[in-house]
Amino acid sequence: MLCPNCQHKESRVLESRSTEAKQSIRRRRECLNCKYRFTTYERIELVPVTIIKRDSSRESFDRSKLLRGILRACEKTQVSHQTIESIVDEIDATLQQSTSREFSSNEIGELVLKYLRNESEVAYIRFASVYRKFQGIKDFVETLNQLQNNPLTGEIDPCNDTSSQNTKYNLVL
Ligand SMILES: [Zn+2]
Repeated sequence: MLCPNCQHKESRVLESRSTEAKQSIRRRRECLNCKYRFTTYERIELVPVTIIKRDSSRESFDRSKLLRGILRACEKTQVSHQTIESIVDEIDATLQQSTSREFSSNEIGELVLKYLRNESEVAYIRFASVYRKFQGIKDFVETLNQLQNNPLTGEIDPCNDTSSQNTKYNLVL
């Protein structure tokens, strides 16, 4: 890293700290030649993930689009913004850690439903109706029956939320 002041090649690190979201590290440096101080940021390079849509078109995975979709489904439910953010984080991490770089929109949708199932039946049905493109009441009834035949495991104790997270989010794509 060249010094912005004198172009000298070497500097020393005075301080390192991770930024708020822990997505990058900020380093305060001092040029070994002229003592000029400057800041560098180190970031994780994320490998892009491609989503294959129903009509076979492709788009890159868009975290904020996923967040908006889940937020819409969870409107006026007890699901907190924090929970929604953590669902998006989990899905994002699952995609990043997978050896595959391509996922169908179907896989993403089913993944979201697995999480919403534990949070809110209303959000689950809403999300399913949009993503599975419900055509009419028959589709709602079918999904409601599926929910009823596989009842929820019960309320998640917020105090135990971290300990239950591993089993709760034990998903395989
Ligand atoms: Zn310098």
